[in-house]
Amino acid sequence: MFDDVPMGGVTAADAASAASIHPFETYEDLGPEQKAAFHQLSSYRSRRRVRATERNLRKRSLGLRIFTEEEIERYTEVTLIYDSNDFGVESLYQGEPVPLDMSCVYFTASRFNHSCDPNLEWQTWVESPWFTARASRKISAGNELTVSYLGGPMSRAQRQRDLKSGWGFDCACTRCTAAPVDYDTRLEEIVGTQRHAASQTQQGAPVWPPTEDETAPRHARRLQLLEVLQWHGDLHFAYFTAAHFHFERYQALLGSDRAKAMENLRQAVIYQRKSWESGKTAFFAQDPLVAQAGSQLTKWGAVLASEEA
Ligand SMILES: [Zn+2]
Repeated sequence: MFDDVPMGGVTAADAASAASIHPFETYEDLGPEQKAAFHQLSSYRSRRRVRATERNLRKRSLGLRIFTEEEIERYTEVTLIYDSNDFGVESLYQGEPVPLDMSCVYFTASRFNHSCDPNLEWQTWVESPWFTARASRKISAGNELTVSYLGGPMSRAQRQRDLKSGWGFDCACTRCTAAPVDYDTRLEEIVGTQRHAASQTQQGAPVWPPTEDETAPRHARRLQLLEVLQWHGDLHFAYFTAAHFHFERYQALLGSDRAKAMENLRQAVIYQRKSWESGKTAFFAQDPLVAQAGSQLTKWGAVLASEEA
């Protein structure tokens, strides 16, 4: 089977086979062999789920006509398989991933089982037809390759709830069965730092411009937690965000407090370097996201050099 996979090694690259924008049309476009392969994929089908899917299809129209009974039966099957196997697809906008209301099914990637402590990080961009997975740590030959079906950091209770309702299983991964207590405590804290940012935005609280005294330690703490957990993908984005925060502080302070501005510039460069490095670990070095962190680092490094000269 597989030899040992080094951290960052590519383990799978798989072309998209069905997209959610027009799932039934995409499905109908598949050849007979691909259709057969699609129906081989597993799906979670509780009675409630099947009924809800049928109900939805009855409400919807395909183009200008209503689904026939035969189509409802066929597309219920397609939907159930689809929902159990799709991976969300994001777009890249100025180096930041933007979630799209879109997902794809990839035949090979669908075979990966879930773990809350997966040894693969996966990536799908709408700009590319490929699903790629990289080892997030060294994987010894004979170990199962796993991905996470869930997005972002979640507490154990939340993970268990989402996996049960979405895929119908009780997760018994190493993290769920033998998690050290402090892991979930750290996780709760990470989720808390995110929730804080979200609620500030929603309540119209003074988020912008963020005050340095409030925001900088929050970034630092979040990064510290993610570093302990070794989540390179999340780390890449968190470093990127923190770097931009400090660079904006540098620009804002330049006219009034040069010493403080320079402190922020130095911090921005440090974080951008870390963003670039963790990005290379989690993704491809030539990935547009990682490339952007790299070019940002070069630019800011030059600003720092000229300011210090
Ligand atoms: Zn788990």
